[in-house]
Amino acid sequence: MNIAKAQEILKHQFGYDSFRMNQQQAIECILNKKDCVVLMPTGGGKSLCYQIPALLGDGLTLVVSPLIALMKDQVDALVNNGVAAAFLNSTQSSRKQVEVFQRVKSGELKILYVAPERLLQSGDQFIDFLKNVNVSLFAIDEAHCISSWGHDFRPEYMQLAKLKHHFPEVPLIALTATADKLVRRDIIERLRLKDYDLFVSSFNRPNIYYTVEPKRNTYERLLQYLAGKRDESGIIYCLSRNSAENLAENLRDEGYNALAYHAGLSKEERDKNQELFLKDEAKIVVATIAFGMGIDKSNVRFVVHFDLPKNIESYYQETGRAGRDGLNSEALLFFSWGDVQKLKGFAEVDGNRSQTEIMLKKLNLMGEFGDLKTCRRKFLLKYFDEELTEDCGQCDNCNTTFEKFDGTIIAQKALSAVARTGQRFGLSYLVDFLRGSQAKTIRDEHKNLKTYGVGSDVSKNSWFDYFKDLIQQGYLAQKDGQFPTIVLTEKSEAVLLGRETVELFKVVEKEDKKSSLVSDTTHPYFEDLFADLKRARTTIAKAEHVPPYVVFSDATLLEMATFLPLTKEEMRKISGVGDLKLDKYGWDFLTEIRSYCEVNNLDSRINLKSVKRERKVRTKRDEFGKDTNRISLDMFQAGLSIDEIAEARELARGTIEIHLIKFINTGEVRLEDLVQASKVEPIKQAIARTNSGMAIAPVKEVLGENYTYGEIRAVMATI
Ligand code: ADP
Ligand code: ZN
Repeated sequence: MNIAKAQEILKHQFGYDSFRMNQQQAIECILNKKDCVVLMPTGGGKSLCYQIPALLGDGLTLVVSPLIALMKDQVDALVNNGVAAAFLNSTQSSRKQVEVFQRVKSGELKILYVAPERLLQSGDQFIDFLKNVNVSLFAIDEAHCISSWGHDFRPEYMQLAKLKHHFPEVPLIALTATADKLVRRDIIERLRLKDYDLFVSSFNRPNIYYTVEPKRNTYERLLQYLAGKRDESGIIYCLSRNSAENLAENLRDEGYNALAYHAGLSKEERDKNQELFLKDEAKIVVATIAFGMGIDKSNVRFVVHFDLPKNIESYYQETGRAGRDGLNSEALLFFSWGDVQKLKGFAEVDGNRSQTEIMLKKLNLMGEFGDLKTCRRKFLLKYFDEELTEDCGQCDNCNTTFEKFDGTIIAQKALSAVARTGQRFGLSYLVDFLRGSQAKTIRDEHKNLKTYGVGSDVSKNSWFDYFKDLIQQGYLAQKDGQFPTIVLTEKSEAVLLGRETVELFKVVEKEDKKSSLVSDTTHPYFEDLFADLKRARTTIAKAEHVPPYVVFSDATLLEMATFLPLTKEEMRKISGVGDLKLDKYGWDFLTEIRSYCEVNNLDSRINLKSVKRERKVRTKRDEFGKDTNRISLDMFQAGLSIDEIAEARELARGTIEIHLIKFINTGEVRLEDLVQASKVEPIKQAIARTNSGMAIAPVKEVLGENYTYGEIRAVMATI
């Protein structure tokens, strides 16, 4: 058997032009009847490593997977590509199971997915059954579950050693996205692999853009962030069930189709919410980490961390759920050292000092990542033992210039605020004090100090940054504890006495380079056709009771909307269109594309598509004009009212307000444009009175019906 055959299957059955990463090597290894261990990042394409050999072998491929929730979708996707596949797990009726067994016996089935517990149920019965079956390959998915060093140890996996014992001749492939060396060793030992190959792919996920923002006005910021992503799928991670629940509810109030997912929900609710998300009927899931491994949705466009993950492994795994289809996606983390502090409590492993220390160290590295001023991808990959020689250009830090300036005066003000208030207060208090806040929390005796209010010319956010900078440079220190106070250090005195100058970072944002849905190709795509194709896909998916991406992935539709195939032959050239899908769905999508081309007087562009494409990043903005905020601004400046803009753009009024509020600080929109002059003062007072930080709800409660969230937001933007 040779690799040319594998190549043919790749194209005809799965519709792809070339292998990715180590796929080819792994397949060759199996075809040579050798065992192998495949380490590939999430979304890398592990499944094909065993699916293609399965189709080339004459017997059955048995796939062991712990992800019961996923089996049905995986099997649906295979069947949709013309592969005889089925699964066995505890969710099925016994009649269904008998039917599956019969299909195995008859030799008709090529791929069978089983949960490990099902495989080992009732002693060796299943193993004995397999002895009478022609098994050509064992695939162990999520193989790290066999290791207690991993993050998802499953005792049933330990039993998988039996496979090599009973079937020494049958090749075995173990696959995982966890790179850790200890885990790797466990997999090899515990599966009893002897003569095997190890394939380690790069863990870089070039299509994910990493951004970290300070955890301030987080909800506001999130709304702004989501405003341009109405049609996109995303996951938002929170630390607690409560906050997940509340956030999902708030987002629903803002018109987002958001659902919560956490361990506090019943199994039915969780399954239902997950299903709605997979089927694209809910766009956003607000989840605790309970929303885990089972998520194999290829078109997740963004992952937001509302709270800090407890280590880099978790962060990387969670962000890795974005962009599995290879299209550009985003990871946004809201970071504060307060979160690091909060998580310290969770890092404690009872009675195990050394384990606790490891956890704390990992947590601190997570903090370091949050505060990083250099390429984030470099840092992440280094963490996983991989060296990136150049900065990536696809993270916030790579697109930000950090300029320094003489911040001696600022430093003196900050240090003196700490000294004069007796080194007994936290960051927020000091910032409020420096800015001369009228809040009740500021002690009266402090209001008489000379330093009170000397920093009113600097914004709150900037003060936070300066303090962090000063702490990092050792001019101040933050004490551990439940209420971390800021104290002076031995370096402070020289600054206070004017004997030392201090340089501080000035942050100047470069033009925002990222955009969420970026075409995989060097050519622009037709946005409205893309939307039509998605609609057509939804209709088919509903009729067939499968998630939309099982019909075609976003990446495939995007290619169609780019290259406008008009015949079946042209359609076959689109990546992701295999023979069976072409027969099954080709016509539906061709019809959409043809009518679009007719109306718009367009011709096919399939000759622009080269087989091997250079992946080039091109933003929607480059091709189609401006970003969403600016579009609203232009309409507003052209004299349309907010309601008119909302109607024209088919967006919520609140969304348009958020767009416009962004331009208050640039001076392009005036506060009076958005809020009646007579309302400004009452809103300001209510904000001061509730002293709620940047939370809007309490302010709205004080003000009542006559004031809108938009008006409150607008005023807040000026404070
Ligand atoms: P993993 O299990 O490693 O997380 P999957 O096997 O689910 O990843 O593959 C992720 C996506 O990449 C799927 O949509 C799959 O069809 C697609 N894919 C896999 N191999 C290729 C390839 N060689 N070319 C293009 N797309 C691929
Ligand atoms: Zn970078």
